[in-house]
Amino acid sequence: MVEIISFGSSSRGNAFLFRTSRTSVLVDAGFSPRYLRESLLRCGIADHQLAAILVTHEHADHIRGLAGLLRWQSCPVVATAGTLQALRLDAAHEVVLRPGDWIEIGELALRAIPVPHDANEPIGLHIVTDKASVAFFTDLGSLTLDVTATLQQVTFAIVEANHDRQLLDSGPYPLWLKRRIASRHGHLSNDDAAAAAGLCSSRLEALWLAHLSEENNRPDLARACVERGLAPDRLVPITPLPARGLYRWSPREVTTRE
Ligand SMILES: [Zn+2]
Ligand SMILES: [Zn+2]
Repeated sequence: MVEIISFGSSSRGNAFLFRTSRTSVLVDAGFSPRYLRESLLRCGIADHQLAAILVTHEHADHIRGLAGLLRWQSCPVVATAGTLQALRLDAAHEVVLRPGDWIEIGELALRAIPVPHDANEPIGLHIVTDKASVAFFTDLGSLTLDVTATLQQVTFAIVEANHDRQLLDSGPYPLWLKRRIASRHGHLSNDDAAAAAGLCSSRLEALWLAHLSEENNRPDLARACVERGLAPDRLVPITPLPARGLYRWSPREVTTRE
C-alpha cells in the first residue's frame, strides 16, 4: 500500500504525506503546527509516528510549522546541507541528504534532485515504493535535464503550476516580484507545467498541479493549459491541488486473472 496525501499546496503553504503500511514521511511543513498535527491525526498518524520530515527548501511556505511540529513528532529532519544550514535547527534532529544519492526511509526509497529555485540548495524528489514511482517538484524555476529524466520514469507526478503568465503580467505584484516569479529561478507557469506534463512517461497514472498562486492563477486555467500539453489520446487525470484541505492519491490496483 502506498498513499500520497496533500495537506494543501499554494504560495501560502505546502505539506504532503507519503505513507506505506509501515512508513510515514512528511514532505515539507508549511502550515501551522496545529493544522499539521490535526491533518496527521486525520490520516491515522499519531504523535511520534512519523519516520521523518523531509524539507525541500527553507522558504516560509514550506517550513512555517516545522519547529512547532517537532514537539509532537520527534523524528529526524532530512534535507540538503544548504537547507539545514538555512533552517538552523537542533543538530540532533538532522540527516543530510546529498543530491543525487538514493536513501531509504523505511519502505520508501528517495533521491533528491537539485532544482534551480532561488533558495539555499533546494531539491525536488523522486520517491519509489514497490507500488509507485513518484516525481515531486513543487518549486522548480525551470526544467533541467535531471528533472526531465525523472518525469520520464514515473507513474505519478506532482508538478508546480504556479501562475498564468497573463494574470501575472497584468496583476498587482510589483515589477521586481513579477520578474523573480517568472525567472528561471522562480516558479513554473502553467505553460511550463504543460511542457513538463508532455515529458511524462506513458505509464503516468495521474498528475497533480501544485503551488498554484491564489493571485496569479486559477485551477480551471491551469488544468486546461496542462491538458493541452498532453497528447490527445492520453487520459491522465489532472488535479489542481486545493490550497488547503486533504487530498489523496494511491496507485491503481492492478488485478490479474488467475
Ligand atoms: Zn520556494
Ligand atoms: Zn513554495
